[in-house]
Formats: sequence, C-alpha cells, structure tokens
Amino acid sequence: MCGIAGIFGKEKAAGWTTEALFAQQHRGQDSCGLASTDGGTLRQFRGLSLVRECLTDDVLKSLPGAAAIGHIRYPTQGRPCTENAQPHLFVKDGSPLFALASNGDITNLPELGAEVESRGYKLEGTNDGEVIAKCIGVWAFEDGLGIEAAIAKWMERGRGAYSTVLLTPTHLYGFRDPFGFRPMSWGSRDGAAVVVSETVGLDILRADLDGEVPPGHILRWGPEGLAEIEGAPARPQQHCIFEHIYFARPDSRVFGENVFDVRRAIGEALALGDTVPGDVVVPIPDSANFIGLAYANARNLPIAFGLVRNHYVGRTFIAPEQHVRDESVRLKFNPLPGFFVGKRVFLVDDSIVRGTTIRKLNRMLRENGASEVHLRIGSPPIRHSCYYGIDTPVQEKLVAHGRTPEEVAAFLEADSLRYLSMEGLRSTVSSPADFCFACFNGQYAAGRKA
Ligand code: SF4
Repeated sequence: MCGIAGIFGKEKAAGWTTEALFAQQHRGQDSCGLASTDGGTLRQFRGLSLVRECLTDDVLKSLPGAAAIGHIRYPTQGRPCTENAQPHLFVKDGSPLFALASNGDITNLPELGAEVESRGYKLEGTNDGEVIAKCIGVWAFEDGLGIEAAIAKWMERGRGAYSTVLLTPTHLYGFRDPFGFRPMSWGSRDGAAVVVSETVGLDILRADLDGEVPPGHILRWGPEGLAEIEGAPARPQQHCIFEHIYFARPDSRVFGENVFDVRRAIGEALALGDTVPGDVVVPIPDSANFIGLAYANARNLPIAFGLVRNHYVGRTFIAPEQHVRDESVRLKFNPLPGFFVGKRVFLVDDSIVRGTTIRKLNRMLRENGASEVHLRIGSPPIRHSCYYGIDTPVQEKLVAHGRTPEEVAAFLEADSLRYLSMEGLRSTVSSPADFCFACFNGQYAAGRKA
C-alpha cells in the first residue's frame, strides 16, 4: 500500500510530483520522498511524515530539474524509518546512477536481497523497493546489461507486485509487474508526462489520462520522446480487487473502470435478496459511503451519515500497531447525538479484516440507543493474507479465518451479518477473470512470502 508519481518534461518537476503525491496521500501516510534530475545530477529527499509536512518549499528548491519521481509509503515491509522511505538511490563509486520508487510486495525478496548483498551492496533497510533498485543496479552497472535489460531481468527474477518509477539523470521509466497487481496510469499535460498510481494524481495536475502502464512493459520518456519496450511476456492479469473495494479513491479510475461505479455495483449486489427489515442504512465513512448509498437505494431505505469521521486520524485498517487501532476507533468515529435511539440500523462496511473496529462501532451504536445492528459487508469473508502489497495481518488474526459467517456474527455481536458473495463481487467488474481474489479464495498467482 503505497503511491508513486513521476514527471518528465516540466521545469520544477518536483513541485508537480508533490501535488500528485498529495492527491494520493490516502495510499500511505508513513513517509514520503522525492528524487529529481536537472539532466546531469540526481538529488533525493526522504522524510517521515505527510506530503504537506515533509515536502516543503525549501525541500522543493533543493530538488531542481525537469524530471522527478516521488513516493508515499505505508509500511507493509519494514519499520517506519528513513532507510525504508523511498525513492531509493542506486549509488556506485560514490555517484548516484538512478533513483527508484515502487508500490507492491515482492514474494521472493529474501533470495534476491541475499544475492545483491553477496555482490557487495549492503541493504540499508528492509524495504522491497531497495531490493528492486539494488538488483537492477547490480545487473545494469556491474554486469553491464544497461538499465532496460536489467529491468527486463528483474521482471524475470522478481516475483510479486510492483508498479515502479525509475529516474536516471536523463530518462524516466515506468514499469509494472506482468500480472498488473497494482494500478499505474500515465498521462500528459503541455508536453510533460505524468505517471501515477491513481488517476486522481493526474486530475490534480489537470493532466489528460493517456492509459495504464501495460503489465510487463517498460515505458521510457527521454529527450527523444516516449518509447514502449516489452519487458516480460504477458501473464494472466491479477488486478487487486481490493483497490476497487477499499483502497483507491472513489474518484479514481483504476484497471479501466471508475472506482465509484464498482462500489455502486457492490452495494446493489449486496442488497440482492436481502429482506431483513430495518429503519436506516449507515455507512462507515469514508470508504463504505458509495457502497452504503447503493445498498440503501436498492433496498429503498433511507441513508444517514450517522457516524462522523475525524479526518485527522489515519485509516484504522492500516494502522500498524494494535494499540493504535484500538484507540483510533473512538478517536476516529463519533455518533450523531440521539440519532440512533430505537432504530434498527444496517451498518455498512467495505470489508472486515480483524473485526475489532466494526465490533467497537456496533457497541458504540447500541450504547447510543440502536435497537438492532445488522452488519452488511461489501466483500466476501477475508480468510487469507495478502502477499502483494496490502497490509492484511497473518491469517490467524483475520476474524473470518476458521470461522463460519454465523460465528463471525456472534463474535461481532451483530443481530445479523451479510457478506457479499464471491459471485456477487465478481459481477461488479467487467472482466473478473483479470482480478486477484486471493485474500478471499487463497489462490495466489505469484506465490506467497515465506
Ligand atoms: Fe488484492 Fe487480496 Fe489479491 Fe492482495 S490478495 S492483491 S488484497 S485481491
């Protein structure tokens, strides 16, 4: 769970890159960073905070040039520290040769990390992006392959998910794993190229969407223009369905579909055949808002934003420590006073991971007078961990792992619990065969991390 951005062909590119990162801040709040080139020298900055706090005017002034890349990070691998922040620089004989930033997790990371260390390139941190950078750097500059052949070799050797930008002194590259797990789009404005994880990063710059970076391909922008190079043979697509369910902003377009359209379809599919009586639909803001709205419309029930969210707290689901998650439920949500008294409530969420948040919210609604709380969930039970860049816990900590939906409902103290079925979820995207559903069905196309 991270966001990337890259700009080529725009003076003060670090400024545009910062705006593109800011629009994608929901993808990670742990650290951020930039690297830029003035055509000859690469410079880098990394910090442990939000984009607006870290990437100040002074930082931007220290990063001149017409090409830049940037990254926002949520730690799925490695602790929060500057060494694990991106972009990573590949340095040989004291000279930075390129910078790299990536979104996704690599399943054979230990093997590849050991390989680069055996070549004399010590890893500073424990982050996937650093291993990608060092592998490509060693193969390109120690083994003499050059950048493009080294990226192609990475596509052959690296397993898992990566949507990556790479900046040399003269060129910007964007490449994506052959399965296309994570989103990655590119666009243009006034002759400059913009690469982003989500299209909201293009919107903020008023750049036109030109397309997605094709999985297994390498796009290269340079003084000679744009070139597309095949890096690896096409594989069956495995787009992360969770981007549509939860992660991506509803105003983004990912994997060729509008996220809000998919969320609306999820809400409608969830309502199909649901005849449990109730008074009001309350979505858990913000990620379940569109699902709740569609569910309420389909059931002809009123919707109310009965829970108010404090936007200055990070996302509960991705907070790395349990004690932070525990506290952040009350810090993050507050019920409208008096609203719930005597009401039969459909509480709608996009997914249930550990179950701790929704159980606390259920209790909160009852303490505030709700007579019944029925949970409606816009995805099937999550029974397996993700190894491709989403921070789900080990499967034993997933509330649905080893429990029937009835047992989950009892654990969550709900009057009823209804998950979206797998068939229902598959019906919400136009080509379900192109999606990964491994956290629901355990079918991992690119292996699992040891
Ligand atoms: Fe996405 Fe789940 Fe697949 Fe991970 S396992 S990539 S969260 S669909």
